[in-house]
Amino acid sequence: MIVMKFGGTSVANYDAITRMISIVRGRLGEKPVVVVSALSKVTDLLYKIADEAAARDMKDAMDLLSQLRERHISLAKELMPDNSVLCGQACDKVNAICDELESFVSAVCAVGELSARSKAIIISNGEYLSSNIICYAMNASGIRTGFMDARKMIVTDDDYLKGEPDMNVIAERVPGIVSAAYEGADAVITQGFVSATAAGEPTVLGRGGSDYSASLIGMAVDATRIEIWTDVDGVKTADPRRVMNTRSLDKISFEEAAEMAHFGAKVLHPLTIEPAVRKNIPIYVLNSMNPEGRGTAILQNSFIEDGVKSVSCKENIFVINIFSTKMINTSGFLKRVFEIFSEYKVSVDLISTSEANISVTVDSSQNIDAVVAALSEFADVYVDSDKSQVSVIGKNIINLKGLLEQTFAPLRECKIYMISQGASYVNISFVVDRTVLNDVVQQIHKYLFEK
Ligand code: ASP
Ligand code: MG
Repeated sequence: MIVMKFGGTSVANYDAITRMISIVRGRLGEKPVVVVSALSKVTDLLYKIADEAAARDMKDAMDLLSQLRERHISLAKELMPDNSVLCGQACDKVNAICDELESFVSAVCAVGELSARSKAIIISNGEYLSSNIICYAMNASGIRTGFMDARKMIVTDDDYLKGEPDMNVIAERVPGIVSAAYEGADAVITQGFVSATAAGEPTVLGRGGSDYSASLIGMAVDATRIEIWTDVDGVKTADPRRVMNTRSLDKISFEEAAEMAHFGAKVLHPLTIEPAVRKNIPIYVLNSMNPEGRGTAILQNSFIEDGVKSVSCKENIFVINIFSTKMINTSGFLKRVFEIFSEYKVSVDLISTSEANISVTVDSSQNIDAVVAALSEFADVYVDSDKSQVSVIGKNIINLKGLLEQTFAPLRECKIYMISQGASYVNISFVVDRTVLNDVVQQIHKYLFEK
């Protein structure tokens, strides 16, 4: 059995879905479990609908909802023109989902209050729409496809917008659901991103969470391979939007991939690696626009050579500087500081400390107000949002003679505010002014990869 996940751009429209179905057709012998995202940009649209509802703007919310319905109905008709029964069923399904969403959004508009739980319900509709239409389209194309509801499979805690999966429950539940859906079928399909609590309350896995869904399912069914189909030729040496002359990497290790995903490479959801590592399942990042391409294999460390694989970056970070003279010659200060981060669930990327100062970086998508307030009770806290973070990632890069010199040579002119090098030998990260980020990344890439 294999898991094949198709992201938003790989299911964006008629052409993409037609390509996607032919890719799946080529793999039927391996019993694919297909996981799909919402059509490209649909989740953003649903977030907007949720915001309009919270702002009690019924008219705008309803306008956006009709765009949503319109896009999916015309897609269904395009995909199944000469198969009227299935096309009719697909349109009925789309209408039923949209009707239900409309009443839900009206209710939210009426109260003008949007709980995290209601938001999770609204934003999970993109995946229900796409998975239903694609399931009908696959059946129409002759691939008998069984449908599965991810809410029955991906069980999380009650953090509605970023549910934490319960791997044991998932491993218990998924195989039975998959084999039931496989009865009389050539393939099965489900939603990425969507999940639920053990009691069945709707949750989601967080933005970009479909990759994570795919690897959780892969772990649960002991897949021989997890394929992440996207719109680029695998994992690259840097973000091609920032750097010219990037290369695709043939293979990287689970550790390198995890670091890259976490430190700014936008190819994979950062938590995708963990379930795959548990069962040592290779992950392939592949391009649905170029299905013959090799893509990138993400494998166990022993298959991977030492050396630099990528220069990644995060443009939007906060640097939190914490000063306290109480820190001098005392123990327990770090503990106190990090307990606060943990209490408010703010996750920290880089840390550097000196005798009276701790600096940390955090992703700016997190709300740090409560952390800053709590820290300010016993320390001077200063938050800097004009900085960005650059990470050079690769296996055993510490062993590479002169790497630091190579990395920093292009930076001679530029200020470096923090440096951190993990003991894992996979990552050297540092913080620079946001204004020079692109220059820095380009220079380092040139130095490391374009010789
Ligand atoms: N549709 C969701 C998002 O846009 C999940 C995903 O595509 O991975 O965040
Ligand atoms: Mg994605």
